[in-house]
Amino acid sequence: MAKQSYDLVVIGAGPGGYQAAIRASQLGLKTAVVEKDGPLGGTCLNVGCIPSKALLESSELYTQAREGLAVHGVLTSGVQLDLDALMARKRGVVEGLTRGIQGLMKKNKIDVWHGTARIAAATPEGLVEVRGQNDGELETPRILIATGSVPVALPTLPFDGKRILSSTEALSLTEVPARMLVIGGGAIGLELGSVWSRLGSKVRVVELMDQIVPGSDRRSAQLLERALRKQGLEILLQTSAVSADVTAKAIKVTLEGKDGKQSTDSYDVVLVAVGRRAFNAGLGLAEVGVATDERGRIQIGDHYESSVPGIFAIGDVVAGPMLAHKASEEGVACVERMAGVAGHVNYNAIPAVVYTWPELASVGLSEEAAIAAGHEIRVGSFPFTATPRARCTGHTEGGVRIIADAVTDAVLGVHIVGPNASELIAEAAVSMEFAATSEDLARAVHAHPTLAEAIKEAALAVDGRPLHI
Ligand code: FAD
Repeated sequence: MAKQSYDLVVIGAGPGGYQAAIRASQLGLKTAVVEKDGPLGGTCLNVGCIPSKALLESSELYTQAREGLAVHGVLTSGVQLDLDALMARKRGVVEGLTRGIQGLMKKNKIDVWHGTARIAAATPEGLVEVRGQNDGELETPRILIATGSVPVALPTLPFDGKRILSSTEALSLTEVPARMLVIGGGAIGLELGSVWSRLGSKVRVVELMDQIVPGSDRRSAQLLERALRKQGLEILLQTSAVSADVTAKAIKVTLEGKDGKQSTDSYDVVLVAVGRRAFNAGLGLAEVGVATDERGRIQIGDHYESSVPGIFAIGDVVAGPMLAHKASEEGVACVERMAGVAGHVNYNAIPAVVYTWPELASVGLSEEAAIAAGHEIRVGSFPFTATPRARCTGHTEGGVRIIADAVTDAVLGVHIVGPNASELIAEAAVSMEFAATSEDLARAVHAHPTLAEAIKEAALAVDGRPLHI
């Protein structure tokens, strides 16, 4: 069996692990990455961010081709869906990016071990055992755990991969289900619900809480909800699935609303998208003394170090928002600190996006969270209907909301529902990174005509002086 020594062994090649490995190599650490699932890129690249965005793009184009172009004087007829081609394109996007990561590992002289890792001995005389396509024993003084997360199952609806799906199966259906129930009105449920609704499914989304995208700015979530309802998604809030009965041809699910009333309907498939949980099975954490919390998340200190010195953890396997860019920023900061460089993640300025149409993009505190945190606030908002560029594209739903501190004028949060919100939010995140005030945003020159002018106008509105409304 191959035995090798490294300065750092990274377990898991998702966005957290592989980017940490690249940075470690740049900083001169001899680095290995261990990945159990074949293609590199983790959840994000293989069954998460990337395939979902590929499907969202294709399904949105299909919708536009069918019903969005006539207003521009572009007449179409006989528009048809080739689901096989759509899925093949998605696979191509994923495979191309996966190969890219393989290339980056090679370029950065990072050894990739394909197999399942187990920590056989704690650091500083650390030993990581690899079993699978490659078998090996990796000696190392530093281990970085980046093993990510897996979908949470519901006891009433255990995944069977056929009728009761996790997001992974919902990304690869071979036919468009006539009726789909989505349990969970968060980002994943709404994105995949949108995909299949656009492709022809009758989609019903149920959410336990009293708003979609729980935890997000309430007013913005309501704007998104209204837009999604207009597109034909049925959304039931404060509703839960209490029982299910799988038959040969369908699945019957009983839902219960907050008034206790129950109703039973049949669906072709149910997508359970109620969240994800940290994944650390088989790593041997208990044996080496790495502490986890009640949700299986590895407990870390300020420098991402676990309860065992020399064993670090980042990304979905630790606390915090389960987002690819959060994982990768943590990975980079973690190895920078190992190498004596001042790595840092600003947890107040991590953007989050729901890639529906329109998109919902946020950074910082929601209005509700800002008030709960004791801030006196001023809120400025501006709709895309009053934004000339949005009028030109015809996508005028939604708007921008800026939450500013009433005393210091510091931007506390920015929430955008609208076209290209995922791109627009970068301006807000950078502003917050530089501790901008709403006046800074209002004074910055924005090109005309652009969607970003809505951010400037919302910033002006914080001070009660928008120009175009
Ligand atoms: P992961 O990406 O989960 O990678 C962990 C890796 O570790 C996996 O490859 C796993 O096989 C490997 N591993 C686990 N145990 C072992 C072991 N013992 N030995 C070897 N290897 C092991 N986030 C966004 O920011 N934007 C989005 O648009 C977005 N969309 C999403 C859509 C869907 C449908 C889903 C499911 C998720 C989405 N996410 C999105 C979340 C994002 O995918 C995760 O937050 C991100 O992948 C976490 O990165 P990570 O590196 O911590 O872990």
